[in-house]
Amino acid sequence: AKTITGRSLCYYDAAMDEAARERNAIAKDLKRALKDEEFRLFYQVQQSVVSGEITGYEALIRWKHPVRGFVSPMDFISVAEESGAIVEIGAWVLRTACREAAGWGNDLKIAVNLSPVQLNDASLIETVRQVLVETCLSPSRLELEITESTIIGDKIHALHQLRQIKAMGVTIAIDDFGTGYASLDTLNSFPFDKIKIDRSFLMEADKSAQARAIVRAILALGKSLEIPVLAEGVETEAQLGLLREEGCEEAQGYLLGRPVEFIGAVKAA
Ligand code: C2E
Ligand code: CA
Ligand code: CA
Ligand code: CA
Repeated sequence: AKTITGRSLCYYDAAMDEAARERNAIAKDLKRALKDEEFRLFYQVQQSVVSGEITGYEALIRWKHPVRGFVSPMDFISVAEESGAIVEIGAWVLRTACREAAGWGNDLKIAVNLSPVQLNDASLIETVRQVLVETCLSPSRLELEITESTIIGDKIHALHQLRQIKAMGVTIAIDDFGTGYASLDTLNSFPFDKIKIDRSFLMEADKSAQARAIVRAILALGKSLEIPVLAEGVETEAQLGLLREEGCEEAQGYLLGRPVEFIGAVKAA
């Protein structure tokens, strides 16, 4: 660190492993991508298990890179979180999702994922307020999905921000439930409007009695706390059957619909 800046930088670059270099390249590219409008939102249907009725859509970001093609959020969200770019990207997601949902001509929910970095950022409340005013979306149609890890960072601040958002009439879902290490504590700390069972449990439900038992336990928990439960990653009729038997309220997954770019096209089909 005490050497000439140029040299030490050069040495550091050479020592960087491929993965770090890749992340670095993505980090630089993210800022440009936002300006060049390379992000898109896809929507995945959420529906009632009992009636099959559509209840809403979850917005999922896609990056249409001019060279790399479609880049998965798995490959850039964590990079954007590290660099802080997620605050701007997340605001774009929120604005775009609300604007598009306001144009659907229905009352369906629009679920938007929120990064822990966004939840810790002081600008979030104002961003949500602005977007709701700007898009004229009824606040009750907006649902923010947060993972348990979201609340582990600065818990008091995060819960304070969530309360303010909830006071606007926006609902909050806990995402990937069951995978965090403080599930029950998290559930006890905040009045969530929905529990989303992580898809890993559904994936194994067909072949594992243990996974089925966990799904049942989460459903029982939802019942006793009076919080509706949505199961993610439903891919088979058998999984949907299990959810029906066990009284799960909502489901989402490839069986019901893959993420699609245009909601209009889905309705027409
Ligand atoms: P998530 O919030 O848990 O979203 C569900 C993921 O599961 C999506 O992957 C979806 O395409 C996929 N999926 C849905 N149904 C099925 C199924 O039946 N089987 C399988 N195998 N997969 C299914 P995707 O779109 O690649 O997103 C991955 C993750 O990236 C999301 O997980 C979320 O954590 C994050 N993400 C996506 N969009 C955003 C965003 O706008 N903001 C933030 N902060 N994170 C986002
Ligand atoms: Ca989600
Ligand atoms: Ca999830
Ligand atoms: Ca997930």
